[in-house]
Amino acid sequence: MRVAPEIIAGFCRIRSRDLLQPRQGDLAALDPSKLLWAFAGVESSFGQNSHPRHEQGYCYNGRYFQQKATEQWGCLAHCSYGPWQVMFDHFPNGVTPIALLPQGDGHVAADLSAMACVAILNQALARGAKTLTDLAMAYNGPADTPEYMRQLLASYDRPMPQYTDPVLA
Ligand SMILES: [Zn+2]
Repeated sequence: MRVAPEIIAGFCRIRSRDLLQPRQGDLAALDPSKLLWAFAGVESSFGQNSHPRHEQGYCYNGRYFQQKATEQWGCLAHCSYGPWQVMFDHFPNGVTPIALLPQGDGHVAADLSAMACVAILNQALARGAKTLTDLAMAYNGPADTPEYMRQLLASYDRPMPQYTDPVLA
């Protein structure tokens, strides 16, 4: 499941307006739209791998297992979704796994994924994140932070394509 980088860049520009503005630390100097772009780069190679990914930690006997969502959706509740690969658990109530599968050009699923990414980053910023490393850890957990940071910085430096209007079916 692929979402074109032009579509992803478009949502980076739109949804980054909802990011809280860090006023200090190295985050204050970052371009918010490029910040979202960088996370999409690490998580899905800028949309190339936007299929759901099953995470064992959310499955039966995992530490993040949730009974209620599992009763409703089975292993679909244990996946991350979209170009930003956000765990199902982090989407608002009412968003179904089906809505998170890229269909057509994928812009509906991509936007839901972008908004959920912003919500996670905002939560970290509200808790006082001051560095890109703080955000990386909030997003990815504490494992493999140096490698995640390396990929995040490399993705941040990749130029964003110009926006083309999503094809509205
Ligand atoms: Zn599962």
